[in-house]
Amino acid sequence: MALLNENYLKTPEIYCFDDVEKRVNAYKLLHPKAKLIRLGIGDVTRPVPSVAINAMHTALDELSLAETFRGYSPPKGYDFLIEKIVREYRSKGININKEAVFINDGAKSDIGNIGHILGRDNIIAIADPVYPVYENATIMSGRAGYLNEDRKWSNVVYLKCNEQNDFVPELPTEKVDVIYLCSPNNPTGTTISKTEMKMWVDYALEHNSIIIFDAAYQAYITQDDVPVSIYEIKNAKKIAIEIRSFSKSAGFTGLRCGFSIFPQELTVRTQMGEAVPLIKLWSRRNANYTNGISYVVQRGAEALFSRKGKQEIRQLIDYYMTNARMIREELIQCGLKVYGGINSPYVWFKTPDNTPSWKFFQVLLQDFQIVGTPGVVFGHEGEGYMRFAGFCSLEETKIALDRIRNRL
Ligand SMILES: *Cc1c(COP(=O)(O)O)cnc(C)c1O
Repeated sequence: MALLNENYLKTPEIYCFDDVEKRVNAYKLLHPKAKLIRLGIGDVTRPVPSVAINAMHTALDELSLAETFRGYSPPKGYDFLIEKIVREYRSKGININKEAVFINDGAKSDIGNIGHILGRDNIIAIADPVYPVYENATIMSGRAGYLNEDRKWSNVVYLKCNEQNDFVPELPTEKVDVIYLCSPNNPTGTTISKTEMKMWVDYALEHNSIIIFDAAYQAYITQDDVPVSIYEIKNAKKIAIEIRSFSKSAGFTGLRCGFSIFPQELTVRTQMGEAVPLIKLWSRRNANYTNGISYVVQRGAEALFSRKGKQEIRQLIDYYMTNARMIREELIQCGLKVYGGINSPYVWFKTPDNTPSWKFFQVLLQDFQIVGTPGVVFGHEGEGYMRFAGFCSLEETKIALDRIRNRL
């Protein structure tokens, strides 16, 4: 009799964002003429930078000739891309060894896959609210423990973020082993400052914990005291994995490319207390579970590091950030409590009169024909909040803001 991995039955039946789709589709059926504006989406909408498109055309042509054909990529990615990444870090004063860089098919895969190489009994710290994948990956890998009456998992320490701490996670009072940090945060758009980041690194050093730092939005950072990399903090290489992605910066959400950094200095212990470099296990996992990502896409990603590539990325981000700032300012004008929109495309706001997230979702849909993302899908502390994003077109964003001007 084949048995299944019952941990997979413990996660919600549908991925939380599908719930939004279901409600939007129901509304569309009843109101086929409504001009809906999706101000809540977490996907980019502008085209991929032309340098990357051109590089990919060239790469594809190479594959059409026997002399320049390429088969399997090295599992950890091609050197031509890894070298650009190393150089980019060096330009920020951070020395990353070439061996430490692993190209992947986007941040999401590694966020889940890291579970393969970590012990089952680790206590995991996860911010609330945050990107739902950290918690779901923890549940599916059998690490979450059991579900308490308050609908929280026994082996997960929730780092509550709310009005009291301005939605910035605080150090746990108990000992945790693995910490997921996301800065700039999705969904709140808030960031961890250099001083705060040092507190996290010191905590991890003191407790032999590791930090999985999700820097998917690092390209959106505008303020100087917000670290773009956790490795800006001394000794962070001993305790942190950093994950980045070309998805949100260069429109690669459909192309798929990102990378993870596993510094050689980062060790994790066996039951017997022996320290083992985590990179050793990660290399082994990669060699067995992946054959890398496509040559064409890696050439596209490489082109993003050229001068033109950097310019085009800047333009993309400026475009989204103009929208985000407009949203932020309009909501403040409406008298709402607003976070994000400064180092992040996301604007997070408290609903009027403490309306529950899903109820306010319906109000936005019905009265304004605007689709937001209910804060509660990102965690308990998100109840009573909504997420908007700067990812729509400028025109649509303006129309949406006209609809809500002074009416919330
Ligand atoms: C979008 C997003 C990701 C996923 O990025 P991909 O590289 O497209 O897989 C990871 N983390 C956060 C916080 C995100 O918002």
